[in-house]
Amino acid sequence: MNETNRDLGCHCFGNWKCNGTAADLRSWAENFDPGACRAAVFVPHPYLRMAGEELAGKAQVGCQDLSAHAGGPHTGEVSAVMAADCGAQLALVGHSECRQAGQSNEDVARRLARAVDADLVPVLCVGESLAEREAGQLAEVLSRQLQAAVEGLERARNPLIAYEPVWAIGTGRAASAEDARQAAVLVREILGKIDSGLKPPILYGGSVKAANAAELMAAEEVNGLLVGGASLDAAEFSAICAAAG
Ligand code: PEP
Repeated sequence: MNETNRDLGCHCFGNWKCNGTAADLRSWAENFDPGACRAAVFVPHPYLRMAGEELAGKAQVGCQDLSAHAGGPHTGEVSAVMAADCGAQLALVGHSECRQAGQSNEDVARRLARAVDADLVPVLCVGESLAEREAGQLAEVLSRQLQAAVEGLERARNPLIAYEPVWAIGTGRAASAEDARQAAVLVREILGKIDSGLKPPILYGGSVKAANAAELMAAEEVNGLLVGGASLDAAEFSAICAAAG
């Protein structure tokens, strides 16, 4: 971990996406060791309660998305209150897979506000596509994503930001530690310019593995990791926590 940001701790969060069964969860819980990190796993909604029971003392549990509505005629959706009722403590909002499926910055802000209203700790995902990066639009994209969400972030209890470049997610092509550093520093600068007073931990996400975790965590302003594919394997995710902490 970098020395400058030790005060913000080490957060190792896993996003299981649409993967896993009850049996997988049980065996994962038996084999997972968070080491010195604060660990959390974002599981599919049906497994929230079970994950809370199986992972007690090892990891917190969060939902991967939630409805922008408090309730009502929205078939198939899960509200923030329902997720909290089932044991979610955190909520991932604005994941790039959800943004790619159509969520605008304004939709993400509404979901974040619902999470905060239900006292869930939000993890706001931000990040640019490859085309945006190549067009030199990184700062502009991050700025729009953060600006839209800042009101909810300011109301939240201990919010976190995950910088997840879209081109690094699930591609096996992680950002370099320098890319992660530059983006994390940019997130801090943007939050400073918005004058929000927010100093949330900033996580890096995108093709993190045990082999690159320590290097990414050593980057200035990177206070944790958000791990997709590699978090499905308890031994690998434990090794990531050990390398990061
Ligand atoms: C993610 O889904 O948030 C993610 C970072 O995925 P992966 O680690 O598989 O790139």
